[in-house]
Amino acid sequence: MTATITEVCISAQAAELIQVESNSKWPHETGGIALGRFEGSTVRIHQATPPGPNAKHGLASFVRDGDFAQQELERVFSESTGSVDYIGEWHSHTLHVGPSPRDRRSMEFIAKSSQYSAANPVLLLALPRGLLRDRTYEIQAFVLVASMLVQVPVIKES
Ligand SMILES: [Zn+2]
Repeated sequence: MTATITEVCISAQAAELIQVESNSKWPHETGGIALGRFEGSTVRIHQATPPGPNAKHGLASFVRDGDFAQQELERVFSESTGSVDYIGEWHSHTLHVGPSPRDRRSMEFIAKSSQYSAANPVLLLALPRGLLRDRTYEIQAFVLVASMLVQVPVIKES
């Protein structure tokens, strides 16, 4: 399904997990998958998963633990009786810079892959606001539309 997505609402729980995980792995990248649901033109992110034990954390790259992500997806999907599903990916950057060409290509791969039923996957990026200890992260959201990553506003739920 191709949808027009105008905003991403992220739960306090998901935002907190992204903040804590990103902070603890800096200066390496980390990430996981984003789980939630589409509500009209709004995407609601209920949960973000940790990277999993076999993830690969580079200075400018991140590969999540695919088996771990799949288990988390199946668990959350069944616990929510199917109302919470795969929405997309999240990962941190070491510096406050937006999506890379590789980020765009990997989201395009997901959009085209039959393993994911996500025609417009969402990419959440956690970008550090500073480089000192206990840095906070800005969460930006991008939706893949016609092979482009289009930024949409993020609303944090309290
Ligand atoms: Zn990236």
